[in-house]
This record gives sequence, structure tokens and C-alpha cells, in this order.
Amino acid sequence: MSFRNISKEALVGSITLGAVFVVGYVFGKRKSSRMSILKSHDGGNVDPLMQYVLNHSMREHPVLKKLRLRTMEESMNIMMVACEQSQLMANLAKLIKAKKALEIGVYTGYNTLSIALVLPDDGVLVACDVSEDYTNIGKPFWKEAGVEHKIDLRLQPAVKTLDDLLAAGQAETFDFVFIDADKVNYDNYFEKSLQLLRKGGIIAIDNVLWGGSVLNPSPDDADTVAIDKLNKKLHRDTRINLSMLTVGDGLTLAIKI
Ligand code: CA
Repeated sequence: MSFRNISKEALVGSITLGAVFVVGYVFGKRKSSRMSILKSHDGGNVDPLMQYVLNHSMREHPVLKKLRLRTMEESMNIMMVACEQSQLMANLAKLIKAKKALEIGVYTGYNTLSIALVLPDDGVLVACDVSEDYTNIGKPFWKEAGVEHKIDLRLQPAVKTLDDLLAAGQAETFDFVFIDADKVNYDNYFEKSLQLLRKGGIIAIDNVLWGGSVLNPSPDDADTVAIDKLNKKLHRDTRINLSMLTVGDGLTLAIKI
């Protein structure tokens, strides 16, 4: 399914799985101009094929569902990661038997919970964000799902947390990284994450299509310029194997060689 075949509506599409199921699409930077074209809604204009995909693939944990519905009550709910993308990343983390994961950009912690659920009981997910308000929404759900002990939430700029981890000698120890925070720092996050990642580990990068803006980046749009620059860099990067998927708003998978 190509990105172009998915309507704008489908990008924020909805699905019924028992209850109204709104798929939120994260645009990590909290930017109102972009929000306006990707407003979440609760039905009617969903691309039928996208809805079929969701209807026939989603296996959402009941607490994840509760957290998603709680997140949908927030005005900035489009920052939530697409649920099918979150499920894909959890499957990948499970596939590589991830024990140690890193998330850069938590929001209300839907993906945090999704990843924590597939880590072993002694696994750890270092979750980086700067918002106590948003992350506090997720905490009770992490606890309810019984994975709270696996989540190490660091409320400070993510670059500082990554530097702290490197200084603590944790280079090459992480199995899985998800990058979904401010776009102008994406390259910083990628470079530091690559140092923290073990060989064969995966870095997943969100919003790499940025609503299609990457096709024609405006020089004064720092977010698009940063994403496009990283996309071009990763295409040439011999340190990784690479795939760019059209799931959600574009998801790059970089596997450390
Ligand atoms: Ca995002």
C-alpha cells in the first residue's frame, strides 16, 4: 500500500474494534499548523482498505486500548503513535528478543506500554520526555498492565539522557530504539542512539514522511529540512541496513551492522 494511496483521512483514520477506535498519528513536534491537516476523528472518512488492514491485524492489549481511549480525550491526541505502527515495533522488538529498549518521545506512553509488554520481566525501557503532565497520563496504565517496573522514565531533555547513558558505559547495550521527539534534533538522537545500540539492534524513526512535506521541503521549515536531511543521510549510511515504510506518517527502520 503506497503512501499516496492512503487518504489524509486514513492517516488519522478510525476503526471499530468493539468501540470506536481512533488511530492517532503522532507528529512529534507539537506544531499546530500541521495538526490542522491531521485532525483525529471518529469515523466516516476512513480509507476502507486501511480499515480492513486494522480490522484484520490489530491485537491490542486491553490496557493499551484503555490508554488509547484515554489519550483520545486529549486535545493533542494526534501525537499518539499509530496503533498498528506500535504493534509492528513491538513485534520487531520481540523478534530480536529485545531486553533493553529506549524511547525518545513518550507523550502519554502508549508505545511505551506496547514495548514494555514485550520485554522480559527483567527488561528495561528507558523512556525520555520533558512533559510530566503527558507522561502522568500513562503511568497508571503502565501500572495496571503490570509493566511499571520495566519503565525507567527520564524527565529531562533526551540528549542529556542519551549522554548520561553513554557516560554510564551503556554503549552497544540497547536492542531497540524508537525516535519520536522534536524533529530538529533527530540527527542527534540517531547518532547517540546508534552508539547505544548493539549490533543487530533496531532504531525505528517516526514521521519520516512528515505528512508528505519531504517531497518539497521549504527552506524555512526547520522540521521538514531536518527530516529530509536525515532521510538522505541514512540512505547512504553504511553503518546500517535500512528500510523506509509507509506505515503511519512514515517509519524508518535502521538495523545496526
Ligand atoms: Ca510521531
